[in-house]
Amino acid sequence: EHMMEIRRQNCNPMIMKVTYYKKPVFIHQGHMQWLWDVDGRRYLDLFAGVATVSVGHCHPKVTAAAEKQLRKLWHTTNIYVYSPLHEYVDKLAATLPEPLKVIYLTNSGSEANDLAMLMARLHTGNFDIITLRGSYHGGSPQTMGLTSNSAYKYPIAIGLGCIHLPLVKRTVHVMDVYFTTIIKHYIISTITGLCMANDKYIGQLKEVFATSVPSRIAAFFGEPIMGVGGAVQYPKNFLKDTYKLVRERGGVCIADEVQTGFGRTGSHFWGFQGHDIMPDIVTMAKGIANGFPMGAVVTTHEIAASFGRGVHFNTFGGNPVACAIASSVLDTMKEDGTQQISHEMGTYLLMGLSKIRDKYEIIGDVRGKGLQIGVEMVKDKASREPLPPAAMSEIFEDTKDMGVLIGKGGVYGQTFRIKPPMCITKDDADFFLAVFNQALNNYME
Ligand code: PMP
Repeated sequence: EHMMEIRRQNCNPMIMKVTYYKKPVFIHQGHMQWLWDVDGRRYLDLFAGVATVSVGHCHPKVTAAAEKQLRKLWHTTNIYVYSPLHEYVDKLAATLPEPLKVIYLTNSGSEANDLAMLMARLHTGNFDIITLRGSYHGGSPQTMGLTSNSAYKYPIAIGLGCIHLPLVKRTVHVMDVYFTTIIKHYIISTITGLCMANDKYIGQLKEVFATSVPSRIAAFFGEPIMGVGGAVQYPKNFLKDTYKLVRERGGVCIADEVQTGFGRTGSHFWGFQGHDIMPDIVTMAKGIANGFPMGAVVTTHEIAASFGRGVHFNTFGGNPVACAIASSVLDTMKEDGTQQISHEMGTYLLMGLSKIRDKYEIIGDVRGKGLQIGVEMVKDKASREPLPPAAMSEIFEDTKDMGVLIGKGGVYGQTFRIKPPMCITKDDADFFLAVFNQALNNYME
């Protein structure tokens, strides 16, 4: 009977809408890098609930910490203090450099970015915000305005359009000119990569600021490596130069670390540390609590002071159970060597995928850092046009049928995304490489 009910739900049109796959994959259980569906089929999970399960599904240590806290205290709100909150903010602050030491806890990445946007506006007294083409910053009405990809704006246009869209649109400026160049360039990046001389980028960047950016701005939002945009990496010094131009116009610089934080990029704990920059505000979520809903905004004492005391109230933000879990995630990361695994397995996968790229006409680019990897698919290496959705879907489904779950993204939906729980092994990587190679082979036949 239970199985019958599950089958019925499988046909629920709402479920069909949110699933990536032609037929929903009905997940029943998870352990570390593995997921099982209701029929007992095992999948290697290389998407981690969109880069979220950081140390492994139902990691025993984190699960034990959650259970312990659940028996003690579930909820109070932040009008009280309690030890899981104290312990956690100390631990989180220790992972960040000075002057990023003031922490606000939220329940998601969108909430964190909403709060960061408000903070930037209150601190600077300015209103305009700059984001990058291809970026994704959230699903709330405000953060959807920050997100450039129109595919994700659909609900605003349809559902809330007349009320919210103009408000957001007037004040958020997507750096189209510059980023169209990069994205276009990126699609042709198999051979040239992002090796365009940096001074040319700086020239373009200055031009965009001179022609399209208002004279006073509140903030610039940028991910250290673009996540949903398809693991897009910027040219050297791009973020550094952008930060300089933004600050010259009175704005603050916000690093959206929702995907790139917590060791995801391998070589650094925070993605921004790979860019020789110091953000004024850092937002985070996803990997922070291994899949338990949580987010955070970290900023400086100076910015926090203009944000003011008492403004920030959040019923669930900093919930004791969330804090106990997030705290255990940080401990577990140290014990399991999570960041090191991300670095080593990321390098290994990038090497393996690059070999596969050289074999197939339809792989335009393999890129990323740590376990934040993108495989950009093209019609052929000569035209370098995005591989159409139907073809993407065929390879994607085939990979799933052979037991591996991956993600999709990119401005044209042309990039496969590999962001596993950061506990995968070399055997897992080899298994995926063999499966992916086979799926490409099947498609080409
Ligand atoms: N920022 C980035 C970079 C993201 O990838 C996402 C989610 N994909 C968000 C913000 C929004 O996070 P959430 O879905 O937790 O609201």
